[in-house]
Amino acid sequence: MSQPKRYTITAALPYTNGPIHIGHLAGVYVPADIYARYQRLQGNDVAFICGSDEHGVPITIKAKKEGVTPQDIVDKYHAIIKTSFEDFGISFDNYSRTSAPIHHETAQEFFKTLYDKGEFIEEVTEQLYDAEANQFLADRFVIGTCPKCGFEEAYGDQCEKCGTSHNATDLINPKSAITGNTPTLKETKHWFLPLDKHEAFLKEWILKGHKKDWKPNVYGQVKSWIDDGLRPRAVTRDLDWGIPVPVEGGEGKVLYVWFDAPIGYISATKEWAQREGKDWQSYWKNEDTKLVHFIGKDNIVFHCIIFPSMLKAEGSYILPDNVPANEFLNLEGNKLSTSKNWAVWLPEYLEDFPDKQDVLRYALTANAPETKDNDFTWKDFQARNNNELVAIFGNFINRVVVLTNKYYNGMVPEASEFTSVDEETLATLKAYPAVISSSIERYRFREASQELMNLARLGNKYLADEEPWKVIKEDEARTKTIMYVALQIASALATLSEPFLPFTSKKLKHILCHSELDSESSWNDISTKEELLSAGHHIGKAELLFSKIEDTAIQTQLDKLEASKKANEAANKSVEPQKDEINFEDFTKLDMRVGTIIEAEKMPKTKKLLVLKVDTGIDIRTVVSGIAESYKPEDVIGKKVTVLVNLAPRKLRGVESQGMILMTETAEGKLVFVNPDAKEEAANGLQIS
Ligand SMILES: [Zn+2]
Repeated sequence: MSQPKRYTITAALPYTNGPIHIGHLAGVYVPADIYARYQRLQGNDVAFICGSDEHGVPITIKAKKEGVTPQDIVDKYHAIIKTSFEDFGISFDNYSRTSAPIHHETAQEFFKTLYDKGEFIEEVTEQLYDAEANQFLADRFVIGTCPKCGFEEAYGDQCEKCGTSHNATDLINPKSAITGNTPTLKETKHWFLPLDKHEAFLKEWILKGHKKDWKPNVYGQVKSWIDDGLRPRAVTRDLDWGIPVPVEGGEGKVLYVWFDAPIGYISATKEWAQREGKDWQSYWKNEDTKLVHFIGKDNIVFHCIIFPSMLKAEGSYILPDNVPANEFLNLEGNKLSTSKNWAVWLPEYLEDFPDKQDVLRYALTANAPETKDNDFTWKDFQARNNNELVAIFGNFINRVVVLTNKYYNGMVPEASEFTSVDEETLATLKAYPAVISSSIERYRFREASQELMNLARLGNKYLADEEPWKVIKEDEARTKTIMYVALQIASALATLSEPFLPFTSKKLKHILCHSELDSESSWNDISTKEELLSAGHHIGKAELLFSKIEDTAIQTQLDKLEASKKANEAANKSVEPQKDEINFEDFTKLDMRVGTIIEAEKMPKTKKLLVLKVDTGIDIRTVVSGIAESYKPEDVIGKKVTVLVNLAPRKLRGVESQGMILMTETAEGKLVFVNPDAKEEAANGLQIS
């Protein structure tokens, strides 16, 4: 086995203004976790690092909206996010937070080093200012048109459409996100990181260097930005939430969130190293360490241009070996959206599928947005579970374990002579660790997950073809050999599934009673060892690894999404304009009374009209009302209604109508009576029917 290597693996710091959803899991955390678990199984020295990103403008906006402090917001979501990661088996060595004192110190120290080395440009410039709100408009406090792609809702620091990072003053037609006003310009002092100064290094390192093995989407984006020319970027802000600028003249200013957040990887490593008695510097300052950043595509500029420029300027740090950014995951054909509640939130998923963490991990990996945006559908999720995890992986393991218990009381039988099929099957099995490794090493987790399933397929097919349940009737020795081979495959699956399906792997190792499978080198043992489970070893009883997901469970999820869609449509539905204004005198002319419908029948040969008898308290009168499409006659008898009693009588189809019933329309377009006891649901104003 090769010498163990040291890996520093980081996963994008989740922004702490909401829980996380399947898009985050698919794009960053599941692939990062597969990679980290895999490297540990290779016997490598791994620091898998993450934490909550707790600074920046959106948190202060949310706090303002909810009438709480930014600290309240980050405390709440840090706890929720941390729990979700634990629930889904994301095996961070440390999950820290950027509000931790160790991070404030580390980030300030980093800034101070660059400041002392003269790596910043200090400049008084005019920045966007909202006079009414009395504050500078940094980052998300301002919205305008992206100078690069023309997207009209770009933020002050970044366009979410094309991913470009820019200065707020670059926006065309800027508007304050606080008041909607067009901002004015006001002078203020800031520190800028001159990215143009690092352009030559970035070109050398990324374009001419060995970074051509980066994913094409990452390499292509970075190349296009560098080719466009880089400019100085402000790394400080006029805000009160964040890490104070630690130099003279920095009072009232904080570090730009994208300056401090990536330093969070370093401070989280320090925190972990202190706890574990390790040397943090070997994970960040040793050229033999491989640094890998797992991120979503919206963070590419920060991890491939800005952070490396910061690290380079500081001078003592290693640079990332790879930044395997994923594209975006969509949900049922639409972009995931927090504001539209078009998402599958992890806490909610676990409520509905409490023991199916691995199913979601698997479905998201098998369909990961590695090279292009991809779509998550509940039908695909169900199919991945029922047709692959249950029908192939689970079925194979269940047959092996049940038959071993039935025929041999749970003891691994002795193999006799191998047939050519056995030998071929065992040879194929021995090739799998290298096949899966090769996919993982190239960050192709989707392909890797399918290779794992192919191994289960191999086992399933082997049993189906060799039919030990038939052979046992005539050839006991042959049956023993078949079961021995099948048990070797089951054992390999227990190890090779660990990065992808950690909960299942643990359960399977427990069923096979194979504690040696926990040893770090077991991944490669599959290829090199003579046998994985020896004759005479006892395994445990069968337990189901996976269970079928019924259509009703999927329908519940689809109904939830449909409800979100309806709620959005209702919220966005334009309210009809009001009618012309009337004066008070006009209004007082109306004589409206509450009455009870005592008789109702359909007007013959019409679709819309009902003939009603209404007891108004002063008399009983006939009213012809156009509500027959909304109500059956028998449904309205006994209803309390409001009647306009002094409307001039009018004949409709030969029946004199002596008044009008007041109606209104709900948001769904249904006509309802104006009734003093009714719920508040009128949307479109009064109608007279
Ligand atoms: Zn843009």
